[in-house]
Amino acid sequence: MRSAAVAVIGAGVMGASVAWHLAARGRRDVVVLDRAGTPGMGSTGRATGGFRAQYGTPINVRLSLLARDRLLRFREETGVDPGYVPAGYLWLATTPAELAALGAARAIQQAEGLREAVEVSPAEIAELNPAVRLDGVVGGAFCPSDGFIRPLAIIEGYLAAAARSGARVECGVEVTGMRRERDGRITAVETSRGPLAVGAVVNAAGPWAAGVAAMAGVALPVTPLRRQVAVTAPSDLLPAGMPMTIWVGDGFHLRVRDGRVLLLWPTPGVPGRPFEASVDPAWMDAVAAMAHARVPGLRRVPIDRDACAAGLYEMSPDKHAILGAAPRCPNQYLINGSSGHGVMHAPALGQLLAEIMCDGRASSLEVSGLDPGRFERGAANPVPELL
Ligand SMILES: Cc1cc2nc3c(=O)[nH]c(=O)nc-3n(C[C@H](O)[C@H](O)[C@H](O)COP(=O)(O)OP(=O)(O)OC[C@H]3O[C@@H](n4cnc5c(N)ncnc54)[C@H](O)[C@@H]3O)c2cc1C
Repeated sequence: MRSAAVAVIGAGVMGASVAWHLAARGRRDVVVLDRAGTPGMGSTGRATGGFRAQYGTPINVRLSLLARDRLLRFREETGVDPGYVPAGYLWLATTPAELAALGAARAIQQAEGLREAVEVSPAEIAELNPAVRLDGVVGGAFCPSDGFIRPLAIIEGYLAAAARSGARVECGVEVTGMRRERDGRITAVETSRGPLAVGAVVNAAGPWAAGVAAMAGVALPVTPLRRQVAVTAPSDLLPAGMPMTIWVGDGFHLRVRDGRVLLLWPTPGVPGRPFEASVDPAWMDAVAAMAHARVPGLRRVPIDRDACAAGLYEMSPDKHAILGAAPRCPNQYLINGSSGHGVMHAPALGQLLAEIMCDGRASSLEVSGLDPGRFERGAANPVPELL
């Protein structure tokens, strides 16, 4: 039987980050398996590439600040530019309650060291994004060090650097089952290319992570949630450096990427079909109407219906990542449930999981709030009000 010290299941941004961090720690014999033909074909390839530290809980702010440090060193460490552009995230409130929620989150952000996050008045919003119609906007929040990253470049950098340190990446290999000892430890993974004896498994299977965990009898509370993205025809109507602009009330947001405008508006998934990832034509019409009302200039730019796409968020019950050894399966390490923040947090989470696997505990951050056992202990995090 073939063997590996560590089998990482999933060549998305999480699997790539863990593989590199393990390799950088000197772990040899790491293999990354993905059923798709190339890395990044899951959620990571659908991500729009936002990066922010403006969160509403201390652990999420800390993860972003650690990730930002790592992104600033990414090219030096991997040889690839992660595309970090600090264009800012601009949040718009249309009620005093929304403005208060932004203020409460900002107090947490400031306490964690994100001093550049500030409140902005309608006049300041007009300067930061002159394209936005300000009717009903009572104020907002802005952080200039938030911005954009390139999801596929991050995968490419991590996997290439991991391979140079001896990791193997095997695409077109599906994990179909797991063999276990009586004590719950995994001894081998069954794959479409035959069994692989393993010392440990990293479950980095994104929205499909619950199914992978279940192969070893682990009940992992990660569920898929469809996110649709409308894309305009190429246009220079809005500047490339425009901040990500988000309405707090309904989560509608837009950004410019590669000369097109991306429009997003979160909606529930398709009832009874949790893995459905097609784009609903009625949704495209609705999001275009929202865009026209809020950014009137966009009325002149058509939606490119063929370029619109959808993907799956990997939701956890408290919208926070799940990180560490699985309950009652001590050599299945979980790096799941980032709930739509996974690309930006992957540089931090991969480092932290490598610390847990190599040293028995994370040292870069206190991560008890991400512990996989928190749900059954009734110790979930408060669900953040912001996206
Ligand atoms: C529309 C959209 C926009 C987003 N925007 C952002 C954003 O702006 N910023 C941000 O940080 N995040 C964003 N996200 C979230 C982000 O994409 C995810 O949090 C992140 O990509 C999760 O990475 P992952 O590696 O865990 O999962 P994935 O990228 O899905 O990787 C999991 C991999 O596991 C493989 N796999 C699954 N099961 C098996 C199996 N049995 N055997 C072998 N391989 C298997 C899959 O093929 C897949 O490649 C967005 C997501 C969507 C859908």
